[in-house]
Amino acid sequence: MTVLSKPTDIARETLRMLVMRKQAPTPENYARLYCEIGGVEAEDNAAATIEPILQRLAAEIPRSTPELARLGAALSEAHANRKWEVGHRAIINFARQQSDTVSATEWSTLLRELARLLSAQSPPGLCAERQAELEKALKESTTTQLMYGQFFTLAQKWATATPALEVHTGGAARAANDGHGGSGPITAELRELLAGTLDQAIGAALIDAPDLVNEAQSIAQTLRAPAALEMSALQAQLKTLWRDVGLRNKERDGIQQGLLQLLRLLVDNIGELVADDQWLRGQIGVVAKVISGPLDLVAIEEAQRNLRNVIKQQGLLKQSLNATKSTLKEMVSSFIDELGKLSTATGDYHDSIEGLAQQIRQTEDVNQLNVLLEEVLRETRSVQASTLESRKEVLRAREQVHTAELKIKELESQIEQISDKVLHDHLTGTLNRRGLDVAFEREIAVANRHGKPLSIALLDIDNFKELNDKLGHQAGDDALVHLSQVIKETMRPSDSVARYGGEEFIIVLPDSDTAQGVTVITRLQRDLTKTFFLNENGKLLITFSAGIATYQPGDSRAAVIARADRALYQAKRTGKNRVVAAEPSEPRFGATAAVSAAAA
Ligand code: GH3
Ligand code: MG
Ligand code: MG
Repeated sequence: MTVLSKPTDIARETLRMLVMRKQAPTPENYARLYCEIGGVEAEDNAAATIEPILQRLAAEIPRSTPELARLGAALSEAHANRKWEVGHRAIINFARQQSDTVSATEWSTLLRELARLLSAQSPPGLCAERQAELEKALKESTTTQLMYGQFFTLAQKWATATPALEVHTGGAARAANDGHGGSGPITAELRELLAGTLDQAIGAALIDAPDLVNEAQSIAQTLRAPAALEMSALQAQLKTLWRDVGLRNKERDGIQQGLLQLLRLLVDNIGELVADDQWLRGQIGVVAKVISGPLDLVAIEEAQRNLRNVIKQQGLLKQSLNATKSTLKEMVSSFIDELGKLSTATGDYHDSIEGLAQQIRQTEDVNQLNVLLEEVLRETRSVQASTLESRKEVLRAREQVHTAELKIKELESQIEQISDKVLHDHLTGTLNRRGLDVAFEREIAVANRHGKPLSIALLDIDNFKELNDKLGHQAGDDALVHLSQVIKETMRPSDSVARYGGEEFIIVLPDSDTAQGVTVITRLQRDLTKTFFLNENGKLLITFSAGIATYQPGDSRAAVIARADRALYQAKRTGKNRVVAAEPSEPRFGATAAVSAAAA
């Protein structure tokens, strides 16, 4: 490292090294570096090292610009009061100013140069073209620093395109500044040029910022005013305007970005939104409102927030709506299926309900779902009406059946009552069982009263089933009638003849003992064989078997009949067409059954 001797050089190099080494600009770091660069022993007492340096700096720093004068004053004060910190801050501030800002003189030099180049004798249209370029540079500048850069580039470009004129750039520009006199009055021509630029170019560029247009116009007015205007005052006003324009441009960029984002949000999400034009109209309204009003970042951010919220809500709603819709659809289709199963209605109904169910499964539109459901209900109601009608008919029919059943029961019981009173068998005209009971009881009473014998004969036609099967039921009936006819003709008038069962008869024989009974019934058998039973098939002979039982005092009717039945069984068992006398009941009669075989 070359050792510098001039304190200003050492100080400048110290600052440069601080930045290069990325060291914090503390007094200690500064002092250490300064010593290092200046070749001073580092281990010296810091204060002892800094003090003479500050003193020399304060004394030697030129006071040629306000900034340098301020730095010199601050260093003198720091040295006088031994406030190293103040000195350090002053140096750092100065360094920052030097690196960050473009000085007013540089601005004024550049603006003057621009104005000159704008007003240069040039082909028609060039001025307007340059104004447009100026406007573009203004638009693109977001900081005064950038703006300076843009303008500087323009000045260089224009100067090259205008060879007749001297090009002032960089140090040349600074030198030119000195030549023109930085704080002197500006010429009327230049004033008008600047005023025009502010009015036309800048005013047009700031059309949506009335406050800035006013600011520019106000400067333009000042420029046109007859009173002399100091360059430094003009510089200050222009500086403020540039700063405002820069801020405004930043905000404009923000607004544009915001609007773009807003539109993107809408476009990206439209596909996801429920097809509800009411909602969409609302959202487009939000955006329209934002665009129509004065554009500022707050309004756009709010619109974005609203839109995001609504989209989020809409997404949630859409999910639950979809779930509800599919549940509803499932419910409706299963309801319709059940309806189809339950209904006993016509095929027409099933067909139309099936069609509607199909449509319901396919539809995505809740309103359409409602319309279809209405139709299902209407169909069902009309079917219900007809079902109700047929149900009524069924109920009526059932009621009629019930009434009929009651009537039948009533008639049956009436018939029963009536038949209780009837004593004769309707087919043969003989006594029925009830008639038998009456006659038997009467004869028992007579027998008991007069001490006379009383016998009964139980007759059963032989092989009657065969006759029925061979010749038919009617032939059987005719045979029954024929037999009872023969019995009536053969028996005494005092004898009672009763039909006991299907083809079984009981004859009550008053005043007859068992033997007499056997005799009488055997005679009947003979008579029956004599009288052939005439049938359409020709002459038929029927025979019967019989059991004879005699009443004994104390007997019940059933007991007498039971003995006769046992005797009948014997007759059947021993060859049929026989009359068998029952054994008298124990112990009064010890005799065995007397069998009288009757020849057919
Ligand atoms: P058996 O010599 O052993 O008495 O023979 P069977 O064929 O007479 O035998 P059974 O007593 O079992 O049959 C009686 C038949 O008499 C059965 C039935 O069809 C007939 N029967 C009973 N009541 C009537 C009636 O009122 N009319 C007619 N046609 N047939 C009757
Ligand atoms: Mg029988
Ligand atoms: Mg029989």
